[in-house]
Amino acid sequence: MASRVLNLRWPGVCVVCGSALPVGTRAWWDGAARAVTCAACREATTEPSAVEAEQSELDRGQAGASAAREYERRKRNREARTRKAHPRIGGLLLALRGTPQHETAFHSGELGEQAVAASLEQRTATETCKTLGARKECRCRRRPQLSALGY
Ligand SMILES: [Zn+2]
Repeated sequence: MASRVLNLRWPGVCVVCGSALPVGTRAWWDGAARAVTCAACREATTEPSAVEAEQSELDRGQAGASAAREYERRKRNREARTRKAHPRIGGLLLALRGTPQHETAFHSGELGEQAVAASLEQRTATETCKTLGARKECRCRRRPQLSALGY
């Protein structure tokens, strides 16, 4: 179980430095180890790795991912509909018919977003700026597909 920060409801002793922590002190509580760590010791022992973890865990998304998903969804549904309506010649019809424009538009959008993201990555490579593609969990259609985050 991970530690969490809280205001102590009982007096404690920091497991790192041994200092007394009176009631109401803001400190870290590790429920599994039943140990209290004062804020100063917590910062000193975990901050560098926590910052690294935060940076490595930043979900930067994937440019064009939502367009790619939509393209695949439409393609899969069209193929399923065709094979269901024409069980014997469905595969032949799919091979002979072209891909409808409403599907290829999403594939073009995917490639375009990837190109823009690659360009932004290249242009911001030396700066403290990150580009963020569409996140998996976001299903909103009105959100920007690409964002730039500077810090
Ligand atoms: Zn301490």
